[in-house]
Amino acid sequence: MIALFFLTITLASSQQDTLAPAARRVLADVRFLADDRQEGRGIGTAGLQRAGAYIRDGFVRAGLRASFQDFTIPADAPAVLHTDLGGKATRNVVAVIPGTSAALRGEIVVVGAHYDHLGLGGFGALDPDSTGRVHNGADDNASGTAALLEIGRLLARSRPARTVVLVAFSGEELGTIGSSYFVHHAVPQPIDSLYAMLNMDMVGRLRNARLLALGAATASEFPALLDSLNTPPRFDLRASGDGWGPSDHAVFFATRHPVLHFFTDLHEDYHRSTDDWDKLNIAGIVQVAQFVANLATALANRPGPLTFVDSPRPQAAAGGSGYGAYLGTIPDMSGGGVSDGVRITGVRAGSPAEQAGLAGGDVITAIGDKHIGNLYDMTDALRSHQAGDTVVIVSRREGVERRATTVLGKRGS
Ligand SMILES: [Zn+2]
Repeated sequence: MIALFFLTITLASSQQDTLAPAARRVLADVRFLADDRQEGRGIGTAGLQRAGAYIRDGFVRAGLRASFQDFTIPADAPAVLHTDLGGKATRNVVAVIPGTSAALRGEIVVVGAHYDHLGLGGFGALDPDSTGRVHNGADDNASGTAALLEIGRLLARSRPARTVVLVAFSGEELGTIGSSYFVHHAVPQPIDSLYAMLNMDMVGRLRNARLLALGAATASEFPALLDSLNTPPRFDLRASGDGWGPSDHAVFFATRHPVLHFFTDLHEDYHRSTDDWDKLNIAGIVQVAQFVANLATALANRPGPLTFVDSPRPQAAAGGSGYGAYLGTIPDMSGGGVSDGVRITGVRAGSPAEQAGLAGGDVITAIGDKHIGNLYDMTDALRSHQAGDTVVIVSRREGVERRATTVLGKRGS
């Protein structure tokens, strides 16, 4: 009994000893990346450049081989047509942990997180009224970037059988441009050598231990593998879904390889200037980093291949790009207690939403012929339409269904 007692104390304090420094490091990283001085890590800013150098230095300090992968934002990328961002130079940051097995080191496990954000708002921001204010993107995605740096420290001295590649992507917010560049110029081996890709985008708001592992259906082995690694302190792990989604992993899934997207879910500060570091769950980021590091190690050392499971690309994503047509609703990012539909907290003056008679508290359930179950459906629906399209908006107000017709507008107008 006494021995057990001492053992418990020893374990508890050694866990404290290993967790506390990790939390301190992660906190320092997110505070740097999401500081106002980094200008919201917008494309073309000195702040984004500084963030990239910080990540590279962090990898090097951890003992990793790290380098920049320079590229320019294509001038004809749909998301930059109405901006001055086309042609701007930016960079991914890449660190490589060489595989040690002669048979397997030719295959790569990619762990990625985007480090760019919305700069001073405007395009992509859900609070267009705050254009000009720094959008720090602490959760989106300083959190994933800090987790990536921590994974670098955890794996720096490991000797995986397969090669592990850590990538901090730029250009995600403009339409996964950095990850698209990477898959066409993958290092140290072409993308055919990909074993699996693990994406961390918005992992900074762990609540009730709930962690989403989207893409769990992209390899038959994923659900059991994730489950086996979910040891105490356990996540309430929600593993499901295909590999399509509004972040970098979809680009890798399109090359027909298994992917996972780790995500601590949406909140009311998403894509707003209020996404700041003091709202992050730092211990949660550390826990995600340790979990993803263990998963990357397990994948890098698995003897056999993974069984890839494909699924058709959703139509809206194929036809649309950028943020699509403008409706002018202000979605309730906390969900507002709605399980099916998108609750809005208000509409913008003079917007198509206002013309349709929508108001705060309404729950949107369909746009045109598309059912709206959640915010992703709504983004897809607006992406699949163009300015000038006439659509029927179906909504619910105090339990009563309403239908109204409106003409969608142009973003940024
Ligand atoms: Zn984002």
